[in-house]
Amino acid sequence: MKEIVIAADLGGTNLRMATVDQRGAVLFRTKRKTPRGERPEEIVQAIVGGALECQKNCSDFQVKAICAAVPATVSAERGLIFKAPNLPALDNFQMAAALEKELGIKSILENDANAAAVGENWLGASKGFASSVFVTLGTGVGGGIIIDGKILRGADGTAGEIGHICVEPFGVLCGCGAHGCLEQYSSATGIVRLAKELESKYPQSKLKQNLRLTAYDIYQAGTNGDELALEVFRQMGFYLGVALAGLVNVLNPETIIIGGGASGGWSLFLPHVRKTICQRAYHEPAQRAQILIATLGDDAGIIGAARLAFNSLN
Ligand SMILES: [Zn+2]
Repeated sequence: MKEIVIAADLGGTNLRMATVDQRGAVLFRTKRKTPRGERPEEIVQAIVGGALECQKNCSDFQVKAICAAVPATVSAERGLIFKAPNLPALDNFQMAAALEKELGIKSILENDANAAAVGENWLGASKGFASSVFVTLGTGVGGGIIIDGKILRGADGTAGEIGHICVEPFGVLCGCGAHGCLEQYSSATGIVRLAKELESKYPQSKLKQNLRLTAYDIYQAGTNGDELALEVFRQMGFYLGVALAGLVNVLNPETIIIGGGASGGWSLFLPHVRKTICQRAYHEPAQRAQILIATLGDDAGIIGAARLAFNSLN
């Protein structure tokens, strides 16, 4: 019987699950709302429900393992969630053991951005590169670093938090408790905040009339030449470039992959990212690092989780 795995991508709003084969083809998908209660068991039951649905719809295959990509700092080795800022019910929860007990198959965990980095490395933009940095620009900024084919984990498993690199020492207060983290300047939320902060300097900008401004609105205005929007993306790209220049000097990656919803603004911020990296990093590693846009979209986490589930079987 052909062997498959189940991949789960747990977000703050939705839980997406799929069965995936050894070549990375998605055989079946399902989606449900992420339970927002206080008990971690509710989230475990949602994943178990999705897993049983996956199994039922792929009964010609043998399900060998499950990997859950979670929005949290984790110890993949211990199957433990340290901290899940958007799903506090999961703080300090032994999730892999709970899933293994319910499902009776090998169960592992991974940080969501790490899983997406692995997905892009398996079948997406960084395919064929041994050393890559993955940055995801969404509501927050996530990161996953792969060096010589392996996820960089550090001592406890929490490495790769690119969103919390400091780019402005006395800057905006971040949800993590520190000041001036990249996430405050280069996420979708950061883009909107920058626009509001700068709008008084651009009385001509049409964005000022929009009370429910989104990063996408600002991007649209930028493509139409709106000066405020262009300045927002210049600053957002500068800050992203500052963080990436540091990573280029430290890690000497072959490629930097930029994904997530706000990466859609690519054409407006990329020139500023490139320029800042070239100004701030050493010449050789700056020239070496190719900056590419992610290609798997929302599926990066699912594909990466599947790859990690297969890897866990060896
Ligand atoms: Zn932070």
